[in-house]
Amino acid sequence: FLGFKVVVLEGRTRPGGRVRTKKMSGGDCVAAADLGGSVLTGINGNPLGVLARQLGFPLHKVRDICPLYLPNGNTVNPEIDSKVEVLFNKLLDRVCKLRQSMMEEAKSLDVPLGTALEAFRHVYKVAEDPQEKMLLDWHLANLEYANATLMSNLSMVFWDQDDPFEMGGDHCFIPGGNDRFIQALAEDLPIFYNQTVETVKYGSDGALVRA
Ligand SMILES: Cc1cc2nc3c(=O)[nH]c(=O)nc-3n(C[C@H](O)[C@H](O)[C@H](O)COP(=O)(O)OP(=O)(O)OC[C@H]3O[C@@H](n4cnc5c(N)ncnc54)[C@H](O)[C@@H]3O)c2cc1C
Repeated sequence: FLGFKVVVLEGRTRPGGRVRTKKMSGGDCVAAADLGGSVLTGINGNPLGVLARQLGFPLHKVRDICPLYLPNGNTVNPEIDSKVEVLFNKLLDRVCKLRQSMMEEAKSLDVPLGTALEAFRHVYKVAEDPQEKMLLDWHLANLEYANATLMSNLSMVFWDQDDPFEMGGDHCFIPGGNDRFIQALAEDLPIFYNQTVETVKYGSDGALVRA
C-alpha cells in the first residue's frame, strides 16, 4: 500500500471511517449520497486529487452558483440573496477589524464569535427584515457547518486560525461518492474488521499492537 506492507485493524465492520456513501435507487434512477466526508475542499496539492487522477475518477467541480430556497420551495430573490451575503461578510469583516484593533488584548478579552456578530448586527441594524434575518441565519448555520461547531463554541479571536493552511483551487467531488476511494484503497489490503486496538507498545525491535 503506497509502497508499504501493511495490515489494517479496523474497529468497525466496514472500511471508510467518517467517509460513507449511501447508494440509493428508485425506478431506473440510481444516486449516491456521501453521509460523511464528501467535498475535496481545494484540489491544489490535495493528495486525494492525485489519487483520483491515478484511479481515473473524474472530478466534478462544485459550482459557485448556489441558489437558496425558501421554506415554500421558491428560490430566494437573487437581489436579497446577494444583499444579505454582502451584509454577512461585512459583519465578519467588522469582527476581524475589531480583533485587529485589540491585538494582544484580544486574546484575554475573547468572546464567542456568535456573541460578537450578534452585537454588531444590533449596532448596525443588520437584517431586521424577517426574510433577511432568515437568510443571515443560513449564513451563520453555514459557518457552523464549515467549522463543525456552534457559533457559541467558536472563538472570535481564533475561529479562522487554520485558514492559511487551506488548500487552494476548486472544491470538487467524485461522482458516485467517496466510497470509490475507499473501495480502491481497500482492494487487496489485509483488513481485519471488528478489531479494536487496545494498546500499542513501541520497542527497539518494532511495535506490539494488542486488539
Ligand atoms: C458529516 C461529515 C461531513 C464531512 N464532510 C467533509 C468534507 O466535505 N470534506 C472533508 O475534507 N472532510 C469532511 N469531513 C471530515 C472527514 O470525513 C474526516 O476528516 C476524515 O474522514 C478523517 O479521516 P481519518 O482516516 O483521519 O479518520 P476516520 O475517517 O475517523 O477513520 C478512523 C478509523 O479508525 C477506526 N478506529 C478508531 N479507533 C480505533 C481503534 N482503537 N481500533 C481500531 N480501529 C479504530 C474507526 O472505526 C475509523 O474507521 C466530514 C466528516 C463528517 C462526519
